[in-house]
Amino acid sequence: MSEQVKRTVVVTGGSRGIGRAICLAFAGPDTQIFFNYFPEDPEAVNTEKLVASIGGAAKSALMNVASEQDVESFFDKILEETGKIDVLVNNAGITRDTLLVRMKDKEWNDVIDVNLKGTFYCSRAAAKAMMKQRYGRIINVASVVGATGNAGQVNYSASKAGIMGLTKTIALELASRNVTVNAVAPGYVETDMTAVLSDKAKTAMLSRIPLGRGAKPEDIAGVIAFLASDAAAYITGQIIHVNGGMYM
Ligand code: NAD
Repeated sequence: MSEQVKRTVVVTGGSRGIGRAICLAFAGPDTQIFFNYFPEDPEAVNTEKLVASIGGAAKSALMNVASEQDVESFFDKILEETGKIDVLVNNAGITRDTLLVRMKDKEWNDVIDVNLKGTFYCSRAAAKAMMKQRYGRIINVASVVGATGNAGQVNYSASKAGIMGLTKTIALELASRNVTVNAVAPGYVETDMTAVLSDKAKTAMLSRIPLGRGAKPEDIAGVIAFLASDAAAYITGQIIHVNGGMYM
């Protein structure tokens, strides 16, 4: 490991949406960003270019967070290259919305596997390195619906509530090693994930937001960058809601 190793930041699901904004929030001359995406996404290279355009460096890889083997080899390669992982942001997530009585096993399993199991696999892989380093920041992306529930999202809300419990438990387990673990729970964010909602659903959502607008991905990314900063060194085990006041 070279003596001048940059801050190593790993972001899952960095090819677009909130993940891209997170990469951009961390971008800088002293930071090496690694992000993944799945499935193939031509937007990944644009995240790399945008990071480079503001003086940062990001490398991307096709990697499925729901595959234990793929996660292990992704983190092994990063550790071979840099020798450390300073920050992990578990951002990758999917939805497969439908009402409980119509939900297929596959829709349930896919969402739990990517959102919850993926967060577990990546946290476990990074935690081993962070414990040895006696430093680390893990930030998980949950959702307001993990706290409130949401009709049509039994799989998604369960996965995000699971992330909240996982966050607190890992925070307890890693605190003595100077590793903080927190979650950010966004409300309604304007990304491809929510672009598929009907105009009626979007209007209904907006009417419930006291600040009167949906979040931009940057509204979420800024809080995540803060949680990774020295200013947040004494925050751990917290779920930070970033939702324009739609849930208090
Ligand atoms: P998006 O659909 O725009 O992007 C999702 C990203 O995750 C992509 O980069 C994709 O490649 C990656 N991804 C998906 N499945 C993957 C897998 N199996 N392995 C690896 N990467 C995978 O979504 P977004 O709106 O930017 O959401 C990002 C996170 O924020 C998700 O966890 C989502 O649940 C959460 N969130 C979003 C909103 C919202 O309103 N958009 C609200 C609350 C929480």
